[in-house]
Amino acid sequence: MSEATAAGRNGDFIVFDKVDKRFGRNVVLDDLSFSVGSGERVTLIGPSGSGKTTILRLLMTLTKPDGGTIKVDRDYLYHEERDGRLVPASEGHIRKVRSRITMVFQHFNLFPNMRVLRNVTEAPIHVLGKSKDEAEARGRELLEMVGLGDKLNAYPSQLSGGQQQRVGIARALAVDPDVLLLDEVTSALDPELAAEVLDVLRDLARTTDMTMLLVTHAMKFARDVSHRVLMFNEGNIIEDGTPEKIFNEPENDRTRTFLRSVI
Ligand code: ADP
Repeated sequence: MSEATAAGRNGDFIVFDKVDKRFGRNVVLDDLSFSVGSGERVTLIGPSGSGKTTILRLLMTLTKPDGGTIKVDRDYLYHEERDGRLVPASEGHIRKVRSRITMVFQHFNLFPNMRVLRNVTEAPIHVLGKSKDEAEARGRELLEMVGLGDKLNAYPSQLSGGQQQRVGIARALAVDPDVLLLDEVTSALDPELAAEVLDVLRDLARTTDMTMLLVTHAMKFARDVSHRVLMFNEGNIIEDGTPEKIFNEPENDRTRTFLRSVI
């Protein structure tokens, strides 16, 4: 479903410009530049350790780059000056950008001591300052949408992994983000439970114009929902194209080998 329309809209919504990231001597991202358009759904693929999750974590400000510029819309998260100094945005500025981005994690990360509905209403009430009534009405709607309208009062431990991850998705959507980051959201799940989560995400992709960055090994799903696929290897992009192009006619040998190993 790679509609050129979505990719054509504001092609520079998320920008990574010459971004470096190291952990000790391990160079994880090496002078990485790419951009994502508003409303684009982009899947990051590549071998384990190639830096995909690090990109999502940089956008969440869960980790900092060692150099380069990261921008969301017109707002900088990090900015490298001409003299090479890396200038992080102010706390207030980062909070503003961060309020527009949410992430769904591989291991759900739900609040175990809170019931399902409260997991979903916590951020809208305490971060966005919504009223309890408004947050709960929207929370119910979202939980209905992910097929959990009858589990509002359950605790996470009473749910299957697939159900917990669907709560994770509802919780991420509850803050009305412009950007949704999905980090291997089904890799901790059995295939049957993974399938129900992917169905929810397929429906979401059909009905929203949110910008999405996905890290996934579910290649059929990636092909169905992405406008664009980026193949990573050793901290850089070695191939960038439509799902049709990358999955049917990859140009790079490394991409071909990788795809043979996962499909
Ligand atoms: P991918 O998502 O492609 O599997 P990651 O972005 O998770 O790759 O990791 C890239 C590299 O960075 C790996 O070598 C990993 O071990 C390393 N790494 C990630 N997070 C940390 C951390 N907090 N401390 C040290 N090394 C890390």
